[in-house]
Amino acid sequence: MVYPVQGKPPVTQMRVHPHLPNVDEARRAFSWDSVARELAWLPGGALNMAHECIDRHVLPGKDKLALIWEGKSGEEERYTFAQLKAETDRFADILTGLGVKKGDRVFLFLERVPELYFAFFGALKMGGIVGPLFSAFGPDPVKDRLLDSGAAVLVSQPDLLQRIQGILGDLPDLKHIIVVDRSPGAARPPRPQPDPRELHYEQLAKAAVTTFQTTRTSKDDYAVMHYTSGTTGKPKGAVHRHFAIVQQHATGKWVLDLHPDDIYWCTADPGWVTGTSYGMLAPWSLGVTQVILQGGFSPRAWYAAIQKHKVTVWYTAPTAVRMLMKSGDELAARYDLSSLRHINSVGEPLNPEAVMWGVKVFKQPIHDNWWQTETGAIMIANYASMPVRPGSMGKPTPGVEAAVIDQNGKPLPPGAEGDLAIRPGWPSMFQAYWNNPERYASRFQNGWYITGDRARVDKDGYFWFVGRADDVINSAGHLIGPFEVESVLVEHPAVAEAAVIGKPDPLAMEIVKAFVALKDGYQPSDELRHSIMQHARARLQSLAPRELEFRPSLPKTRSGKIMRRLLKAQELGLPLGDTSTLEE
Ligand code: AMP
Repeated sequence: MVYPVQGKPPVTQMRVHPHLPNVDEARRAFSWDSVARELAWLPGGALNMAHECIDRHVLPGKDKLALIWEGKSGEEERYTFAQLKAETDRFADILTGLGVKKGDRVFLFLERVPELYFAFFGALKMGGIVGPLFSAFGPDPVKDRLLDSGAAVLVSQPDLLQRIQGILGDLPDLKHIIVVDRSPGAARPPRPQPDPRELHYEQLAKAAVTTFQTTRTSKDDYAVMHYTSGTTGKPKGAVHRHFAIVQQHATGKWVLDLHPDDIYWCTADPGWVTGTSYGMLAPWSLGVTQVILQGGFSPRAWYAAIQKHKVTVWYTAPTAVRMLMKSGDELAARYDLSSLRHINSVGEPLNPEAVMWGVKVFKQPIHDNWWQTETGAIMIANYASMPVRPGSMGKPTPGVEAAVIDQNGKPLPPGAEGDLAIRPGWPSMFQAYWNNPERYASRFQNGWYITGDRARVDKDGYFWFVGRADDVINSAGHLIGPFEVESVLVEHPAVAEAAVIGKPDPLAMEIVKAFVALKDGYQPSDELRHSIMQHARARLQSLAPRELEFRPSLPKTRSGKIMRRLLKAQELGLPLGDTSTLEE
């Protein structure tokens, strides 16, 4: 889906922005040192994200509300910063008590329950590297990530563990599984064979202390890991250091326009980088009260949450906005949404109609911004103080040099399409792909970090997304690597070869579509399609294909590589391009 550089007129509904009155001026004379000085730091120049986000907001006589949590059945729990300090201290104490050491990987496979947040910051406090996983993953994506990272600890819940039971035996590095059971004694079938490494959070918590001295990590010590997909191979673990908090903190102010009295809601799951950088780190580093909903998307529940909690700043995603649009303006009109002061979106292109729908329904434009797992924080954005050009991602933040470049690293003139690139060295830049230095190095060329996106800049410096430069699929803002899906499809006994592409979809931007060639002796049938889809769903859950087409064979290059590009062009009815390398 490509959106026009020109089109709708700009939305000039700007507000005075005390943190960033003019982004162009702020970019001119900028140093990260001044932002770094806004943080508390620890003695001796140490820096720990958990200290910045939790402990430093615990002030004598001022116990501010940090978290308003709404469970799936509407139950509510509230935590102040002092309570979060106690719970995260407790988690850190549990981990150290188990012998977990600084630098060990602690992975979280949890729904959005309060313990996810306790575990995340608890692990950071004891110097662990924490990796949140999307709770809608199936066993295969979880196994790949735990194996590659060599995770020593997995924190999970009974239902989720049941889903991945089959892979637990394949994880030799995993020493402990901490089970968070929010409804002990619930009528659920007992797990047939609990893993001997399982420990119960409730029991561990009783024995742990709630005063823990946060580890004096250095600013460059690894803190957070998120796996992200490429065209080839399994997903790669992008690693961020504690210093990333400097940029998350700054963009929380500049882009999200967060103020101390805001009630903020980020709809992303912490299994994806937005849910971590902006659903935990940025808002809490600014001491802002957050709303967190355990449940998934539902127009009614979402509008009700904004109304009930009087949400002032909202960070969501284009697919969600399009689904809200589909649910009708009348539904929105039934709720009091007047508390909303600033709305932001990320993850996929925000179509101009969605920006304008914001003006109609929320009386303000939705502000698109751009960044990715590797960048750790927002890089390009529409700001409250700037006219929004509907369909544009906006302008780079202070401290970020972004450009659209040609193959030699030369910035291109306005209007020309090229690779979107960022000058390396920003504080939240990923520091490594876990165990994969070659792949990490390959992302840097001619003095630029190459993002993998294609873009254009207009003459006023606004950036416009054109598309991905690779075969990675973006479904509802979640990146899916084709290889991860294909490798599960070919394990079905009937499948000889498989290729997946992103098929355009009016709501989710793209859906995963699979092309499958069968082994000799198998014939295409609805039954077989169902069987293959079932196999993929059981193994991949949220990453599984939504459509499957049988082909007698798949197009390949002479060297035997399946040409996804050609399948995609055929699917879109586009010209097939250069087919000279195609297998005869
Ligand atoms: P992830 O690393 O999973 O956060 O995905 C990052 C990718 O999502 C980017 O490289 C883009 O391809 C896409 N993306 C994120 N934000 C935007 C946006 N505002 N407009 C267009 N694409 C976006």
